[in-house]
Amino acid sequence: MTKPISEKFSQELEKLVGKTNVLINSADLSGYLQEERGLLESFCTLVVRPSNTAQLSKIVILCNDFGISMVPLGGNTGLVGGGIADGGIIISLEKLNVIEKVDPTNHTMIVGAGCILANIQEAAREANCLFPLSLGAEGSCQIGGNLSTNAGGVNVLQYGNARDLVLGLEAVLPDGRIFEDLNQLRKNNTGYDLKQLFIGSEGTLGIITKAVLKLSPLPISYATTIVGMSSLDKVLPLFEMTRENNSSNLSAFELIPRIALDLGIKHIPGLVDPFGSHHPHYVLIELSSSNPKDNSREAIEETLEAALSKEIITDAVIADNDSQMKQLWRIREEIPAAQSKEGGSIKHDISVPISETVKFIKTATKMVENLIPGSRICAFGHIGDGNIHFNITQPVGYDKQAFLNSWTEVNRVVHDLVTDMGGSISAEHGIGILKREELKLYLPEIHIDLMRQIKTSLDPKNLMNPDKIFVLDKKK
Ligand SMILES: Cc1cc2nc3c(=O)[nH]c(=O)nc-3n(C[C@H](O)[C@H](O)[C@H](O)COP(=O)(O)OP(=O)(O)OC[C@H]3O[C@@H](n4cnc5c(N)ncnc54)[C@H](O)[C@@H]3O)c2cc1C
Repeated sequence: MTKPISEKFSQELEKLVGKTNVLINSADLSGYLQEERGLLESFCTLVVRPSNTAQLSKIVILCNDFGISMVPLGGNTGLVGGGIADGGIIISLEKLNVIEKVDPTNHTMIVGAGCILANIQEAAREANCLFPLSLGAEGSCQIGGNLSTNAGGVNVLQYGNARDLVLGLEAVLPDGRIFEDLNQLRKNNTGYDLKQLFIGSEGTLGIITKAVLKLSPLPISYATTIVGMSSLDKVLPLFEMTRENNSSNLSAFELIPRIALDLGIKHIPGLVDPFGSHHPHYVLIELSSSNPKDNSREAIEETLEAALSKEIITDAVIADNDSQMKQLWRIREEIPAAQSKEGGSIKHDISVPISETVKFIKTATKMVENLIPGSRICAFGHIGDGNIHFNITQPVGYDKQAFLNSWTEVNRVVHDLVTDMGGSISAEHGIGILKREELKLYLPEIHIDLMRQIKTSLDPKNLMNPDKIFVLDKKK
């Protein structure tokens, strides 16, 4: 339980970081307090912005001395309330935004936790390398936030999750000590891989301050296509065919239902239907290769011809240039924004084995439609890695709040099914506060117990992002 912030604490904080980096006015605080979708708001009267690891370490020690809880905050694009504070202070990492080193020979870069993901991608590109993590919020999310949520995104098929893209890490522990492991080696088997504790633990075990990221060769040939399909049953045969024909060059395979395109056309300026006729389902596919011998365009054309001749797809549009490629990607990326204009949305970020994805969508759709007739199901996303954003838009004309009130009931239906199919109730967004109660229902007790033990041994005072993922007190 955090103690209230005293005048003395604020003064000590100002001595450490300077007055301008201790924000207390409501106008200065406003950008830090509300969660991305506006579902939750922090109760917090002070945000501090350290400029380096040593300063942050002293802040954490001060918080320990005064019994003040801390919530680390990156770009504030998280979707589960992991950056929400209930008292205590918010520590914004925005000033730790230096790209320290890019090493194209070692294929690594060392970056501060507050670097914006898009800036990291750009710095890698300038060195003729690729940092492959890519997601809709890349213009504002920070690498520290990406790592602490083990972000996924659209390139997981080829390069893995954030966890797979890190060689080394520096973090400030809940007691203020600095854990430094800026390992730049591909091989280093020297005991427990401790950096992984901080990846995916949503800031509950410490604050990431720097990372050594793994780079890849920059692709020199790309092909982006969107295909129209008559039936959901054809999606997995198309996936298998594309993967077989293109092996490791398949970098994205994203499902887009017709309703998503309709909502995009209706609500997003400039978004157009790339086809002359309607299709019930679409898949956006991207191939990319850094091998000069590969011709991604020819490769995708061959796959599409084969898929057309077997009647797996009905039509396809291939981007001819960068601007068309961006247009096709907008159809996928603007889905959440378009959905938000249609009233209430009940959202799920689930994964099941790839082979079960279509069965999951069909079964869950029936179950939810039975529960709330007229529900508009928009199941989209990273079907190539088994991750479906199973979002439900309220029926037309329905009361928004009445619809949102059924969130728990809908969760039960969807998450029970996911669990029966051997899936996960949180594929890439994490648990934070919003999925904490759900986790309790679906994760075996021993998993939560082990997490509690790790948390208690690193943060015995429970001051570092408390009550995220699970509540320490077993009775709650
Ligand atoms: C339009 C849109 C599209 C998205 N698409 C995807 C997607 O495809 N895949 C995906 O995985 N996510 C996606 N997200 C979710 C979100 O962008 C990611 O979770 C992202 O990784 C969060 O980064 P952030 O810097 O905004 O973190 P924040 O929201 O600031 O924080 C998220 C969590 O990380 C902790 N944290 C932040 N910085 C640190 C640090 N330095 N050290 C320790 N803990 C820290 C916070 O306490 C909090 O628990 C999307 C979000 C939006 C709005």
